[in-house]
Parts: sequence; structure tokens; C-alpha cells
Amino acid sequence: MAEDLLKYLNSAQTRCVFQVASCSIIRALIYRTGVTHRPDFPLQILAGPGSGKTKVLTSRIAYMILHHGMDPSSICAVTFTNKAANEMRARLVKLIGKDSVNKVKLGTFHAICALFLRKYGTSVGLDGNFTICDSDESKRIVTKLLKPYDDFLSSKDIQVNAATLCSLISRAKSKGETPEDVVPRKGSRHVLSKALSSNSTNEEFQRVFAEIYCDYEKTLRKSNSLDFDDLLLFGVRLFSQHPRYAAWCQHILVDEFQDTNAVQYKLMCCIADASRCATVVGDPDQSIYGWRSADITNLGKMQNDFPNVAQIMLEQNYRSAGSILATSLAIISQGELYRHTSRIAKTLHTDHPLGPLPMLRSFPTEHDEAAFIAWEINRMIAQSGGMLGFGDFAVLLRFNAISRTIENALRMEGIPNRMLGGHQFFERAEIKDTLAYLQLADNPHFEPAFSRAINIPPRGIGDKSLGEILSRAQKLGISSLTLVERINDSIIPDLKPSVKRKVQSFVNVIRSLRSSATDGMEPAQLIGKLVELVGYQEYLKKSQPDWDTRWENIQELINFASDATADALNVPVVDEDESSLQDTPLRQFLQASMLSSAGDQSNENDDEKVSIATCHAAKGLEWPVVFVPAVEHGTFPFYRSDDIHEERQAYPFIHSSALTRSIRRLLYVACTRAQTSLYLTHTSKRKVAGVFKSRDLSEFISKICSNSPVRYV
Ligand code: ATP
Ligand code: MG
Repeated sequence: MAEDLLKYLNSAQTRCVFQVASCSIIRALIYRTGVTHRPDFPLQILAGPGSGKTKVLTSRIAYMILHHGMDPSSICAVTFTNKAANEMRARLVKLIGKDSVNKVKLGTFHAICALFLRKYGTSVGLDGNFTICDSDESKRIVTKLLKPYDDFLSSKDIQVNAATLCSLISRAKSKGETPEDVVPRKGSRHVLSKALSSNSTNEEFQRVFAEIYCDYEKTLRKSNSLDFDDLLLFGVRLFSQHPRYAAWCQHILVDEFQDTNAVQYKLMCCIADASRCATVVGDPDQSIYGWRSADITNLGKMQNDFPNVAQIMLEQNYRSAGSILATSLAIISQGELYRHTSRIAKTLHTDHPLGPLPMLRSFPTEHDEAAFIAWEINRMIAQSGGMLGFGDFAVLLRFNAISRTIENALRMEGIPNRMLGGHQFFERAEIKDTLAYLQLADNPHFEPAFSRAINIPPRGIGDKSLGEILSRAQKLGISSLTLVERINDSIIPDLKPSVKRKVQSFVNVIRSLRSSATDGMEPAQLIGKLVELVGYQEYLKKSQPDWDTRWENIQELINFASDATADALNVPVVDEDESSLQDTPLRQFLQASMLSSAGDQSNENDDEKVSIATCHAAKGLEWPVVFVPAVEHGTFPFYRSDDIHEERQAYPFIHSSALTRSIRRLLYVACTRAQTSLYLTHTSKRKVAGVFKSRDLSEFISKICSNSPVRYV
């Protein structure tokens, strides 16, 4: 059985699978005898796209279990998205069966940390019933913190600054910087306000940043909540201060290692502390999260931190036709890219035939471009004689904003499609409303949920009354919900009796949900109860023209809740005394929602739909036919001078050339998803912020046209 695993691997891949780590005692003996490159050494597998890195990683896990008899629960496998984790789980089930797979600790870094922190968070000063705060809620908190400056800032300025500050906070956290590390602090209100305006200096802005970062952290702690970055930071704290919680791990394996940031790398080291056994697979050329502080130098660091780490290169691409591979390699290897980076030399070849040349097409507008994509999909399917279905096509976008035109064109041609990845589903207003109530029932201190839920559906509690509640709660140092639960004790003397009655009806809903949750009501039923109690369907009908779609989304959330059973990751009991609260079903559901994304919920018919995804979300995936629209200057890459500022706002301190390199790699990732056909399209005019702008072909492509096999039509 174990040997079967090797049947479908080439010799380099087989070597990767053989390099298996087992117990540290044997390793110590090997160290002593000075023998290197034995099966139980840490390993780096570096290779280009489609060379079987993920396949090798799964085979390696299976081989450790089947051949070396390692306990599945001593293996930790980390991927970057829940979707990738689900795929790896599915592949492993085929190799070792469901029971063993359920014992492997397989998930994203965030999911693994969340589970351990729930159980042992008290050891690092956390309350086990913390709420995970998503990026939207973080932005709400920062927006609220910017409120005192609204004399000086327009509401648009506040939104812009909130987004920028949030990403700076996240960036600081992913580098492990605390608010104290980003001082100088203190400054008059006037200085702070000036700093937020567009003509502020870097020093002024830094001052505000430090101030807001500090207050943001205080708000999170008071709300007993952790944002995504905190999950990792507290995870590092837990495993480094209490290594016994990681002692179960004999081997950690990380896919897409090129995108790990400093904190994630530290986490990997902490989890691998006892065994010193880690296998990482990655491709520096596919590093696309540079702006999120992913750190390619982690590969180098690992060589110091894991002595005798072996390195294996895989050089055969099994995914793409020869001409697609040649075009992709031309994109990545040209230009200024490698003058700035010390590239690890890799070669990549394929035995596949050249196949049709990648096609480059130009259109007058984005509508023509989208219509072509829809038409071409139908044409190819009709001519394939049943070989191709809608599920074999993907349209990969530079960013989500382009998707609307493509979706419309596909719909007009009757082509079923789905949007992959991102957090769209859990970002919908109706889903956030529902979750806010449940979050409050679970954690009364979670302020962002209070501000959201109190007036949905509208209860007629005006801004002034709400302001009074919030500021009174702040003065008394209690949560807003705790305050309004005591609303009849004259705790807010100025509130009108009519407002008090309205607030009381809100409190009653939360109390009722809380008591049902305590009595063990399943999350799916809790949602049903909530929408009933607040008349949510009627509210949607009255206020939303697309109320039926929104109501369907609530039903979808109920489905998700019934599936979100106990997580497959089983946290080992290390120290019963120190383990904090046990998970309740409600908490498990909320955690799954926060860590999930729309792309994770695959429906039965998804295989029969065209996939639309951002290039980021397409990482690690493959399709027979891939379209990459908007291959234009201004999109691939973005420049500071462009009209679309979203990325620059979000990542203001990244040097343009670094951003350009990152976006070049993104195009490389997109092109290398294609197996047999690749289409690159661009338009001479594109609507940007409501205005048509002329567009030129991306320099990434124009520079390679003469010497690479692209067919320009
Ligand atoms: P990426 O860098 O995009 O994540 P990857 O290196 O992880 O790619 P995989 O997804 O593991 O590559 O494999 C790419 C494709 O090649 C898959 O369809 C896989 O089944 C196939 N493949 C890998 N190795 C072999 C092999 N030895 N023989 C046949 N097919 C293979
Ligand atoms: Mg992969």
C-alpha cells in the first residue's frame, strides 16, 4: 500500500517522499554519527508551478503514516486557505482513509492557532470565549477611533484613513511590532487631525498611527476579541512560552511556504521546536503576498534554524502544455525582476507537447472583452465533442472589481459561473447582521457586534441616544451590552422612556438567544430563532429590493451552520487544569464562519460552472482553459499615478518597484494555472471610476511578444 504511493511519482518526487522524519532520538543518533540526508531530516522542496509540490506533500504525509507508522495526530499540515486545506484533506482521504486524516492537524495557521487558543488561551492571558474579529469589524473599530477628528475630516477621509490604518496595523502585527514599537506617541488633537489630512508628513502620520494602533489594541482586549493577526501572535506566544502545547508535533509540513510572513514562520518554528522536523514546499517566483509582509527570506532563515535541512528541486511540470509554460517562464524571467532579488535558480521543463499557442487578444472596451470570453467558452465546448464542460474554464482577475462585467456577459450567454475565494459570502450585510446577534449572545463584550445589531432591524434608537449609551459605557468601563442590560436601573438617566423600551426589546432578544445557546440549542436553530424573534424576513422585504436573494443567503448560512460540526482538528489534552472553556457549538460555528470564505463552501454543481476568481485566490489550482482579462498597463501592474487607488491606499508604504515585482509574479501565477489553453486579453479603453481611460498592453507581455510563443490576434 505504502509503495503504491510512489508508483505515480518521478524520481525527484520519490526522493522527497522518502525524506521522512521520525522520532527525534533516531535523529539525534544520526546527527552524532554525522550522517546527513537521512530520511528524518527537515526538507525544503523548491520548484516551479505544476511540478507536483502539493502532490508530494500529501504523498509524504501518507508515507510517514503508512510506511513509517507515524501517529497521524503527531503530524501538522498547514495550507494557506481553507479551500486548499479541504483539497489536501480530500486527496489524503484517498490515500490513508478518513479516520487517519481526521487525526492529522490539517488547516490554515489561523485555524490551528484558534483551536489551541480556545483551549489553552488562559496561559497567555486570554479568555477562552474570545470572538474573532474580521477585517470589516477591525475597520469599524478604527473608524470609531477616528470619530473625535470628524471636525477636521470629512466622512470620506475617515473611511480612507481607516482602511489605510487597518492595513498598517496588520502590517505591523505581521512583522511582530507592538504599538510601543511604532512610537512616537502623544500629540495634540490638532496635530493628529492634520496628520490624517492629505498634506501630512510621514512623521505626523506615524504619530497618529501609533496612537490609533494603541487604542485599537485596547478596544480589542476590552471586547475580548482577536483579529486575524492576533490569532497568529497569540499562537506564537502560546507555543513559545509553553512548549508542552506543541510537544505532540513530530513533523510540520507547510505548503506555499513562499507566502509565509515573519510571524507565521516563527509559529512554524515553535510548533516544530521539539522535533526540529519541518517540510516546506514553495516557489519563490509565486510569492504574491509581498504587500502582506510575506517574506521570501524565510527560506534562507530555515537553513539556519533547521540544521542539515535538505533541499530538493522538482524540475518537471506536469500541468501545462509546452507553449503555456514557455510563455509563463518568459513573463517571470524577464525585466528588472531579478536584479533586485537573489533568485534561487530553478529549471522547469515539460514532456507535454507544445499545444496551441497562448492567445493574446485586444478589444475596444471591457464589454467586448467580456463578450468574447463568454462566446469563446461556448464555442470551445461546442467544438470539443463532449471533452470540455463549463467546469474546465476559469477567468482569473487582477481584482474583484472587474468581475461584474464578466459575470454579466456569462449570464447573458447562459453560462453558469461561480466566484471562487475571497470572503464575499461572509461579508454580505444580511450575514453580518445575523452573526452580530450571535456574537453578542456568545460574548457580551464584543463592541463591533453591539453597534451593528442594536438598530437592525431599525428600532428607532437615534444616533444621539446610541451615542449616549456608548459614551456612558466607556465612562463606566463596562461593555455597551452590560450597560443596556441594566437600563432600568437609571444607569443612563437621560434616556427617554420610549427609547428605553426599544433598547429593552433588543436586550430581550440577546437574552433569549443566550439562554437557548446555554441550553445547547444548535447554531442552525439559533439562527432560525433569531430571524423569527427580530422579524428579519419582514425587515428584508420592506427595505431591500433583492430581499429574496438575501433571504436565500440566510438559508445558506443555516446550511453552513448545520455542517459546521466539531472541527476535524482534535486538540490534544496537555494539561486539563489549564485548559480554558470548552467550545460550545455556537462558538465553533462562529469560529468556522470567521475563518471561512465563500470559496470554501463547494456546492454539488460547482464542477459544472465556470470559475471566476482573483489571481490570488487561484493559487495552487488548475483548469484546462484559463482566461486572464485586463492584461494592461494600469492593471498589470498598478502604478501610484493611476486612478484606482485601492491598493495604494491599502499598502501605502510599499515601494512601487516591489509592488510591480509582486504583480508580475501574480500574472505568472495566473498563467501557470492553465493546462491546455491560455487566453490573455486587453482593451484599448477601460472604465475606471466611471470614466473611460485609454489603456496600453501590459509591459509584462509587450516585452516578451517578439521572443515568446504568443499568438497576437
Ligand atoms: P503549484 O505551484 O501551482 O501549487 P504544484 O507544484 O503544487 O503546483 P501540483 O498541484 O501538486 O503542483 O501538481 C500539478 C499537476 O500535476 C496535478 O494535476 C498533479 O496531479 C500532476 N502531477 C504531479 N506529479 C505528477 C506525476 N509524477 N505524474 C503525473 N502527474 C503529476
Ligand atoms: Mg501546489
